[in-house]
Amino acid sequence: MSTPTSPATPAAPSADLPALREEYAALQARGLALDLTRGKPSAAQLDLAEPMLALPGLGVHRDPDGTDVRNYGGLAGLPGLRRIFAELLDVPAEQLLALGNASLTLMHDAMTYAHLWGVPGSQQPWGREDKITFVCPVPGYDRHFTVCEAFGVQMVTVPMTPDGPDAEAVADLVANDPSIKGMWVVPTYANPDGAVVSQAVARRLVSMPTAAPDFRIFWDNAYAVHHLTEHETTSADVLRLAAEAGNPDRPIMFASTSKISFAGAGVAFLAASPANIAWYTQHLSVQSIGPDKINQLRHLMFFRDAEGVRAHMRKHREILAPKFAAVDRVLTRRLGDRGVATWTRPQGGYFVSLDVVPGTASRVVELAAGAGIALTPAGATFPYGRDPQGSNIRLAPSMPPLAEVEEAMDAVATCVLLAAAEAAA
Ligand code: PMP
Repeated sequence: MSTPTSPATPAAPSADLPALREEYAALQARGLALDLTRGKPSAAQLDLAEPMLALPGLGVHRDPDGTDVRNYGGLAGLPGLRRIFAELLDVPAEQLLALGNASLTLMHDAMTYAHLWGVPGSQQPWGREDKITFVCPVPGYDRHFTVCEAFGVQMVTVPMTPDGPDAEAVADLVANDPSIKGMWVVPTYANPDGAVVSQAVARRLVSMPTAAPDFRIFWDNAYAVHHLTEHETTSADVLRLAAEAGNPDRPIMFASTSKISFAGAGVAFLAASPANIAWYTQHLSVQSIGPDKINQLRHLMFFRDAEGVRAHMRKHREILAPKFAAVDRVLTRRLGDRGVATWTRPQGGYFVSLDVVPGTASRVVELAAGAGIALTPAGATFPYGRDPQGSNIRLAPSMPPLAEVEEAMDAVATCVLLAAAEAAA
């Protein structure tokens, strides 16, 4: 769960303007160069998996099932690794594929296959439809929106709630519009607001009637095991719920080890109903003879089992949790009683979602850039980069060292206050 803090009622009095301008000038004079743009793991986090680079090791070629990982084959991935992540993602191992290095590629491939050939239940390929629409919960992950944009898929937004997307708003949209073929969901510790989809919301999304017979939920569980507290939230068991609801083919789950082992050099996963897995595998088999099993064996040997992954993620937590605590501490100290911002306190994942005085988000990002702090562009958390309120900014505190996170947040707070005061002037 993520908890917004104080209400965002506009108005830092413009009387503060001269003092804030001075404060900002002093900030600029410090010549900072800090980057809070993308949710990348820090070097200290990457170091946690360093021993993996020595695996499988000279002379080690076989996985526990006897497969020589140096050779072609095994399109579904190594069974041992599939078993580990099936347990972590709460899906049957035979319905989970262990594939290449990036889940975004799998999402893009699923969209491509759907456009070229349709999905199980389609009357024709999506690409032949006059119009395709996806429901996009906002704020959301910019790369999801970019995939839609690249395919000419229209985007319609629904608000996020602390329990995930506003399921009633989604149900209303999909009930009558057959052009709506799918939606994006980041079920656990959503990017950027940290929300976790409740079991009730998941059940509603997989059971709501849809005008399109081939509606798909792109269930991007990128942060399933990325807890920031001792409370290790479990994700809704969406495949089971969908099967129970009589819509087994609706969800397609994606995940990866990008923020578990190495970003861009991990293993990506896809889980879905048997029909969806057969569909995906059939198209994949045209494009690939098999995944990088050497990398998969490296992961299998390093983690050993699901508990190995959980233990590893606790080490990530030790590095990340103080940074998120620092964000909240500095924002609370600087902005807590000013009525100019609200922000989330995520229990996991990689982001804090900051809402500033409506209409000032771009100015905050511009002021921050002028003081040497790179923030994610305002609007990035909305389709087409357009935030109708002009208020949302995604903060990504994972990458800089703790001291720099504190410094950056202090500077961001000054920019938020100055932008609010300018707007009130
Ligand atoms: N989904 C979400 C929600 C993400 O935040 C990210 C990484 N920022 C990704 C997917 C990308 O994952 P991968 O590295 O597996 O492509």
